[in-house]
Amino acid sequence: RAQAATPAPEKAEVPGIGAIIAVASGKGGVGKSTTSVNLALGLAANGQRVGILDADIYGPSMPRLLHISGRPQPVSGRIIRPMEAYDLKVMSMGFLVDEETPMIWRGPMVISAITQMLREVEWGELDVLVVDMPPGTGDAQLTMAQNVPLAGAVIVSTPQDLALIDARKGLAMFRKVDVPILGIVENMSYFLCPDCGGRHDIFGHGGAKREAERIGVPFLGEIPLDIRIRETSDGGTPVVVADAGGSHAAIYRDIASTV
Ligand code: ADP
Repeated sequence: RAQAATPAPEKAEVPGIGAIIAVASGKGGVGKSTTSVNLALGLAANGQRVGILDADIYGPSMPRLLHISGRPQPVSGRIIRPMEAYDLKVMSMGFLVDEETPMIWRGPMVISAITQMLREVEWGELDVLVVDMPPGTGDAQLTMAQNVPLAGAVIVSTPQDLALIDARKGLAMFRKVDVPILGIVENMSYFLCPDCGGRHDIFGHGGAKREAERIGVPFLGEIPLDIRIRETSDGGTPVVVADAGGSHAAIYRDIASTV
C-alpha cells in the first residue's frame, strides 16, 4: 500500500503560522514591495495577525518602508525576535547587514538565509505571513517558491506589455512548483491628475486584468500611480496607515479581503 509522502523538512509547515503568501513580480521596480507592505497592513487593518518577511535579500526595503532601525534581539539559542511596526511582525535582511554592505551571496546561501528568517524567528501566532519575494524568476526564486510552504502567490505587474510578459514567467514559475496563484494586482494602473482632473493611463491600462482573464486566475485590483503612495512609503508610514481613511487604503484593504 502506498504510504503518505512525508514532506521535505524545508516544506514543513511553520508552527503558529496560518498561511504564508508570496508577493512576487517578474521584474523589479513594478511596486512589489510597496504592494507587499500595504497588503500586509490591509490584512492587519481587517483584523488579522500579520507578519512580513522581506525575502528580497539583495534589495531589502522593509527597514525603510516601515521606518525600522536597530537589530532583532536573540530569544534563545539561534532564535531571534522579529522587529515590530504598525501591528506587523517584520523580518528583513536589512536588519542584519548595514545598507552599504553589498550582498554577493550565491544561490544556496540565499536559500539558507531565507530559511533561517522563516524558521529561526519567533513569529508567534500569525494568521498570515506575507513574503516579499526577490524580483524575477531565476533559480533562487524557483528554489524559494519550492522551499517555503506557500499557501499561494500574488503577482504584481504594471499594465505594460513588458512587465506582463515577465509576470507571465512568474505565474509559470509558481505553477511549476504547484503553488496556487491567488491573483494579479495591476500597480501604477492609472493616474488621476490633481490639476486637470483627468485620468491618464501612463503605462496603458487593463493589461493585467485581461491577462488574468486569459489564464483564468482572479484579478485582485488596480492601484493608481499616485504621489501619496510614493511619499508615504519613503516616509516610513505606508499609505494604508498614513491615510487610513483615504481611497488608496480602501483599495489595499479590498485586495487584502479577497486574497
Ligand atoms: P519593487 O519592489 O517592485 O522593486 P517598489 O515597491 O520598491 O518596487 O517600488 C518602486 C518605486 O515606485 C518606489 O519608489 C515606490 O515608492 C514607487 N511606487 C510603487 N508603487 C507606486 C504607486 N502605485 N504610485 C506611486 N509610486 C509607486
